Amino acid sequence: MSSQQPYSFFKSVEKSFDKAAKFTKWDKGILQQIKACNNILKLKFPLKRDNGEIEVIEAYRVQHSQHKTPCKGGIRFSDEVNQDEVMALAALMTYKCAIVNVPFGGGKGGIKINPKNYSVYELEKITRRYTHELVKKNFIGPGIDVPAPDYGTGEREMAWIVDTYASLKPGDIDAAGCVTGKPVSQGGVRGRREATGLGVFFGIREVCNMPDVMKDLGLEVGIKNKRVIVQGLGNVGYHTAKFFREGGAKVIAISEYEGAIMNADGLNEEEVFQHRKKTGSILNFPGATNFTNTADALEAECDILIPAALENVINGENAPRIKAKIVGEAANGPCTPEADEIFIKNGILCVPDMYLNAGGVTVSYFEWLKNLSHVRYGRMEKRFTENINTSIISEVEHLTGKPVSDQARKVILHGPEEVDLVHSGLEETMIAATREIMEIWRGNSEIPDMRTAAYVSALNKVGTSYAELGIFP
Ligand code: GLU
Repeated sequence: MSSQQPYSFFKSVEKSFDKAAKFTKWDKGILQQIKACNNILKLKFPLKRDNGEIEVIEAYRVQHSQHKTPCKGGIRFSDEVNQDEVMALAALMTYKCAIVNVPFGGGKGGIKINPKNYSVYELEKITRRYTHELVKKNFIGPGIDVPAPDYGTGEREMAWIVDTYASLKPGDIDAAGCVTGKPVSQGGVRGRREATGLGVFFGIREVCNMPDVMKDLGLEVGIKNKRVIVQGLGNVGYHTAKFFREGGAKVIAISEYEGAIMNADGLNEEEVFQHRKKTGSILNFPGATNFTNTADALEAECDILIPAALENVINGENAPRIKAKIVGEAANGPCTPEADEIFIKNGILCVPDMYLNAGGVTVSYFEWLKNLSHVRYGRMEKRFTENINTSIISEVEHLTGKPVSDQARKVILHGPEEVDLVHSGLEETMIAATREIMEIWRGNSEIPDMRTAAYVSALNKVGTSYAELGIFP
C-alpha cells in the first residue's frame, strides 16, 4: 500500500482472503458471496449531555454473513470507529466463528466515541439508545444478531443492552440470549471475562508444544520460560499475561498508551494493573525500566509478542524491526498484509487473530446456549459425578487395600462447576482449531503462512454451508 493511501482494514482483510481463496475449491460466485458484507446499518442519534448540550452520535452495526444465524460479534466504543473498520471486524467474525465451529455468522458494532470523555450516565444513555435503534431495525435478538463486548466495552454495557432489549420485548423467554458477555447475575456465564486471554494462551501453548514448529523457529518445546511481550493491558492483554505467567512463561514487557515497561525477570500483570490504577500510568513500576519510546516495546528482543490492543500496529514500516519469533494476534487485525510478507521472509510465525482470539466468541456461544437452555452448566451433573467418583474411590481402596491420598481424593471427587466446563470446552476448541489449521498448512507447501491456512479452513466451512444451503448448485 502506498503511504498516500489511507489504511483500509476491510481491504486488508480482503487481501488475506484473496491470498487463501486460490487454495479452495469454490468458484467466483461463492467466494464473492462469502466475502460480501450482507447488511450495513449506519446510525446517527442525539445525546443530551450532562451539561445540557446536544451531541450527535455516530454508530454502526454490520452483519457480514447469515450463512448461519444469529450473527455474532462485539460492539466497540472508540473514536476511531468507522464503517470500513466495522465491516472488516464483522468479516473477521464470520471466519473466526467458522474456524472454531461456532454456528454463527459474523457481525460487529461500533459507536464512535471515546468512552473516557463521557460520564457513566451518558454512556448508559448512548448504549440504551443504540440498543433501542437496533431493536427498531430488527438488528438484535437471540436468533438475529447477538452483540458482545469489544474494545472499550464490557459487562456493564452488556447489562444495559440486555435490560433495554428485555424491556422492549416483554415475555420473550429467550431475551437474555440477545447479547453475551453479561455479568453472571444478568445471565452471563462464568469464564467469559477471561475467555479471550485464556484462548490466546491455549492456542500459543499448543503451537509451542509442536516439536517441528519449534525446531523451525529455533525455540525449545513448551511454554516454560518463554519471554513474552504484551501490548495492551485491557481485558484481553491482562488475562493473556496472567495465563502465560501462570503457565511458566515470563512476561518481560507490557506496553500501554502512555508508555511501556520492562523487567527481564518477569512482570506480574496484577501488580502492574494496580500500579497503573494508583498512579494513572504504567510507567515507573518498581523494579522495571521504562522504555523511552512506547513503540520500542514491540521491537524488543523476545520469543512471543502479543499485540492485544487495536488493528494496524505492526505494518510494513515497523515489521522489519520485530525480533520476536512468534507473533500472537490477540487483537483483531494488529498486523497488516505487508507485515505478513515481512514475517514470512524473516521466518517469524504469526499466529492469526481470527483463530487465536476466538476464545471470546467461543465462550459467548456457551453463554448463549446457557441462556436458551435456562440452566447453569454443571447443575444437573455435578452431584451425580461426585457420587460416582466416591464409589470409584471406595472400590479402588477396597481392591488395592491402600487409601487414596487426600490430594488425589480432592481432584477425583470434584464434580464439574460451570467454570470448569467452560474452561475445558474452550481448551478443547482451541487445541482442535490449532491442529486443524496446522494440518491444512502442512498439507500444502504452497500455503505461505498460518493466516492463509486459517482462512482456507474458514472458507472451506463457510463455502460448504452456502453450497449445502442450496443457494449455489
Ligand atoms: N469482541 C470479541 C471478538 O472480537 C467477542 C465477540 C463475541 O463474543 O461475540 O471476538
